[in-house]
Amino acid sequence: MNKDIRHIVRRRTSQREIVLTSICMGKHPSARDIYAAITRKEKMSLGTVYRNLQILEDEKEIMCVKADPEVMRYDRRLDRHYHLHCRKCGEVFDVTSRYHEDIDKEASKNSGFVIESHTIVFTGLCQECADKKK
Ligand SMILES: [Zn+2]
Ligand SMILES: [Zn+2]
Repeated sequence: MNKDIRHIVRRRTSQREIVLTSICMGKHPSARDIYAAITRKEKMSLGTVYRNLQILEDEKEIMCVKADPEVMRYDRRLDRHYHLHCRKCGEVFDVTSRYHEDIDKEASKNSGFVIESHTIVFTGLCQECADKKK
């Protein structure tokens, strides 16, 4: 490998690392949130952020979360779990409830469909927004 290529490979890897580590465990940032967090410290274009998010998703390092109807969110937690979406502040949270595999089995039995997973998004108000309402 010549020096230039090695440099490019390392650069790509480190950009991917930067994008990955900017997604905190338990948080569900959007691409714009990630972009904002990264560009506070270093230079990166929004396009590069999107491209690296795509690579990370393809490599199953992160997951897309379709919990917020407005924007795609990203998650570092890879086990199957449910989400809460606050309709007021728009924040997405994890639910500490077990994944109900029985629903998959039941739906599969009734439909003959090969079911891989299901998603549940609970909607309402987070604790903070609920407190503000009082
Ligand atoms: Zn809220
Ligand atoms: Zn999550």
